[in-house]
Amino acid sequence: MKNPEAQQEVSVSQGFRVMFYMMKPSETSFQTLEEVPDYVKKATPFFISLMLLELVVSWIRKGKPPGRLDDALTSVSAGVLSRLPGLFFRSVELTSYIYIWENYRLFNLPWDSPWTWYLTFLGVDFGYYWFHRMAHEVNIMWAGHQTHHSSEDYNLSTALRQSVLQNYTSWIFYSPLALFIPPSVYAVHLQFNLLYQLWIHTEVINYLGPLELILNTPSHHRVHHGTFEAENEKVVYGLTHPINTFEPIKVQFHHLFYIWTTFWATPGFFNKFSVIFKGPGWGPGKPRLGLSEEIPEVTGKEVPFSSPASQLLKIYTVVQFALMLAFYEETFADAAALSPVTLLLRVWFIIMTLTSIGFLLDQRPQAAIMETLRCLLFLILYRFGHLKPLVPSLSSAFEIVFSICIAFWGVRSMKQLTSGPWK
Ligand SMILES: [Zn+2]
Ligand SMILES: [Zn+2]
Repeated sequence: MKNPEAQQEVSVSQGFRVMFYMMKPSETSFQTLEEVPDYVKKATPFFISLMLLELVVSWIRKGKPPGRLDDALTSVSAGVLSRLPGLFFRSVELTSYIYIWENYRLFNLPWDSPWTWYLTFLGVDFGYYWFHRMAHEVNIMWAGHQTHHSSEDYNLSTALRQSVLQNYTSWIFYSPLALFIPPSVYAVHLQFNLLYQLWIHTEVINYLGPLELILNTPSHHRVHHGTFEAENEKVVYGLTHPINTFEPIKVQFHHLFYIWTTFWATPGFFNKFSVIFKGPGWGPGKPRLGLSEEIPEVTGKEVPFSSPASQLLKIYTVVQFALMLAFYEETFADAAALSPVTLLLRVWFIIMTLTSIGFLLDQRPQAAIMETLRCLLFLILYRFGHLKPLVPSLSSAFEIVFSICIAFWGVRSMKQLTSGPWK
């Protein structure tokens, strides 16, 4: 998927159907990896349309939006972070697969046979099943997957709350397929498998009748994100030990740090080994997956963590987020043409924006300083041409607005430095 010229087009109908795996082998079989479309990218506008539809349906049915702004922003932040490494390298899931295919393949199934297509569909689904199951049962894998489960709402934005780390273990489960299935067929199904999982993150679809027996549905997946029982009562979503933060780096890595400290605090070699490879609830003397009586009881009265920020500040974060998204989109579109320095600086700007928004939503004491520095970074990148003006005619207006931001947050930082905690 490196050479954009070779990539096949995706029609409007395909862009919509791909989110439900409603694709035919004849339209999605490719001889080379270069021809495989970036379906995930092409489906983005359709996914955004579904999000708007969810918003409307939720307003009509319940009189409220399907989630909260702070939680949704954090989910999209995680989605953005998880895709950043893709600016520099091909995903581990693909790189490892190609390596195994090129060096160790046993036989070569025909890329244009519908049988290969269906077999890959089942193979990727099977690989994902075991990956996902292990992601819940093996602590070091949970360190990645917990990000996805940390949302305390359940809506389409939750689907975007993806882990940066997950890729580094999931590839293992797909690698047996590389012994006989061409990478171009695998690359198609890997994307379809991911895209299928978007639409099931919603509360606006109830039961799907007989489909519940064979498919992963919104109802099944709601239960997976919350209380582990048939869906008789309202599901309480999120982690058993909530992290209570909107800071994206913490959302991604806090469990890895937790494993690190537990690893050193646990005596004995075999115990240390178990900290990494047994369940997240394991401890010395306990069964592999921990003790069920240690799981905090869900009362149904749990209050999700909410940002104490004012409405005005929340609107400010949304505007800054939207602006960052525009630069993010442009960076992905232009990545091949950008110098490594520009690329790195832009990634730095994106990460800093997400972190600063998290700090503002959490109302951390360092938030004002962080935001001052971020606005300053923006202005410098803009001045030196590392960020292209989105609307060239408004270029100086942009600079003025950001200078005002620097002044505003600068004064706040000063006040904070002198008066202590956030006011
Ligand atoms: Zn899961
Ligand atoms: Zn999910």
